[in-house]
Amino acid sequence: MPEANPRHPDFPIPGGPELRTKSWRTEGLLRLLENVLAVGEAPEKLIVYAALGKAARNWPAHGAIVKSLTEIDEDETLIIQSGKPVGILKTHAGAPMVIMANCNIVGQWAKAENFYDLERKGLICWGGLTAGAWQYIGSQGVIQGTYEIFMRIAERRFAGALAGRFILTAGLGGMGGAQPLAGRMAGAAILCVDVDPARARMRKEIGFLDEIAPDLDTALAMISAAQAEKRALSVALIGNAAEIYPEIARRGITPDIVTDQTSAHDLVYGYVPAGYDLDRVRRLREQNPEELIEAGRESITHHVAAMLEFQARGAEVFDNGNLIRTQAKQGGIEHAFDIPIFTEAYLRPLFARAIGPFRWMALSGDPGDIAQIDDLVLEMFPDNAIVTNWIRLARAHVPFEGLPARIAWLGHGERTALARAVNQMVADGRLSGPVAFSRDHLDAGAMAHPNIMTENMRDGSDAIADWPLISAMTLCASGADLVAVHSGGGGYAGYMTSSGVTVIADGTAAADQRLKLALTNDTALGVIRYADAGYSDALDEAAKKDVGHIRL
Ligand code: NAD
Repeated sequence: MPEANPRHPDFPIPGGPELRTKSWRTEGLLRLLENVLAVGEAPEKLIVYAALGKAARNWPAHGAIVKSLTEIDEDETLIIQSGKPVGILKTHAGAPMVIMANCNIVGQWAKAENFYDLERKGLICWGGLTAGAWQYIGSQGVIQGTYEIFMRIAERRFAGALAGRFILTAGLGGMGGAQPLAGRMAGAAILCVDVDPARARMRKEIGFLDEIAPDLDTALAMISAAQAEKRALSVALIGNAAEIYPEIARRGITPDIVTDQTSAHDLVYGYVPAGYDLDRVRRLREQNPEELIEAGRESITHHVAAMLEFQARGAEVFDNGNLIRTQAKQGGIEHAFDIPIFTEAYLRPLFARAIGPFRWMALSGDPGDIAQIDDLVLEMFPDNAIVTNWIRLARAHVPFEGLPARIAWLGHGERTALARAVNQMVADGRLSGPVAFSRDHLDAGAMAHPNIMTENMRDGSDAIADWPLISAMTLCASGADLVAVHSGGGGYAGYMTSSGVTVIADGTAAADQRLKLALTNDTALGVIRYADAGYSDALDEAAKKDVGHIRL
């Protein structure tokens, strides 16, 4: 039975034992499509997250996707081009049920202005990373990544703990909304600035945020009291980060950690320039997008100048993947790239071993299924400190949004072993229904983005998009249920290419084979990508585990 969704009453959370399609492979994908809308930021516009990341091109295309998923047989494959279904092809039972390519624009044409033009003409839509491929699970999808970044900084700079430390950030949207909870779980006092009071209220309602401060003075007093008591606390402040960051700097206050997750990558549909209210911005999106681009870039120069000032005073400052440095540099901040990107600064040793944001969703809608899988993870990986620590924390602190789901950073061999064991639990009837396995596109072999994932690669291979394309082809050859190739829209246009994968564990022997091939080959390719770039962690992993790496 679908469950009521208080946040978006017209978009119920799927669940229950009934199939509306011909198999769990398609029913699972249909439920994931329903789920990304149920937990999305503006589902009535098909918008899931990251300003303009959409689940389908438009409502007629959405309707046709639903109808196609309902009708296709297991020896057919649904083809989706930028959120619009364009064909159902005869393939075979071992082939994917859905393959899609979203927002891929040829090199010289891959510019923000061309993307907006094609979007307006209804020819393309941006799938974000996980929106268009129906893998988004709400703010919880990035929460472990954000938490791990904070903990890496704690280890490096603050003797392993963030109690008594002040984190300043901005953006409480789909992804940024994970920050207050991640900061709190890391033990810090975290201040999150957002221009939109509705976003802050929503994060508070769903349990990701503790308090909303009425003004900056109160917010800073709350943070400093929590610091003094070494008490974990998350506080939101309604305001524009391009004004609040410089004001905090002007007052001589230096946070311990500073970052930002406003949707700075998109100056039309995302970032709100200083001095503009939300209504004016909404009007200008249609009437005068050029004004927004200019004003947004100008604001970002102040925003990033304050971040650089904090860095000069000794704060740990990093870019959390929203292209804010790139925009600032284009706006004239020469040293914007003195701020490091989070992937290179903190997570690359994990990615080099293909350890990344793996996730699973209980298609039954039963939280008990996730609880059983949590127990299984603790039992299977007792020596993996990152994962056991995370699962214990997550089950205590992370509320479910939409279909019950869990994220955990697992690597080569681990993902496959877990998924196959879960498939067996589905087969034995120990879980109430099938489970979908997926990962973020921001994963070892899956993404080329020279300003985020692949910045400063050891061998200089930052901009080579062969890897995500090879990843998608490998996943098709391995029989994954859904395979996607995405590129950037808005400010990300021309900056990234990524691949996505979903496999449904429905308890069958065929699912076991698909999970084994797709998940093993996915992480093998991740290790190979970093081994090829000369990372010793990856070469070590390749030598220890049989990943099929060819070394010349
Ligand atoms: P979103 O559009 O859902 O939310 C953005 C939020 O920023 C909104 O709440 C908006 O009100 C706020 N905002 C905009 N301009 C502001 C300003 N000047 N001052 C204060 N608040 C402002 O986007 P999202 O899904 O949360 O993603 C945020 C950014 O993070 C995007 O650029 C996205 O692509 C990027 N991202 C990074 C990662 C990662 O792996 N690190 C993952 C996902 C997304």
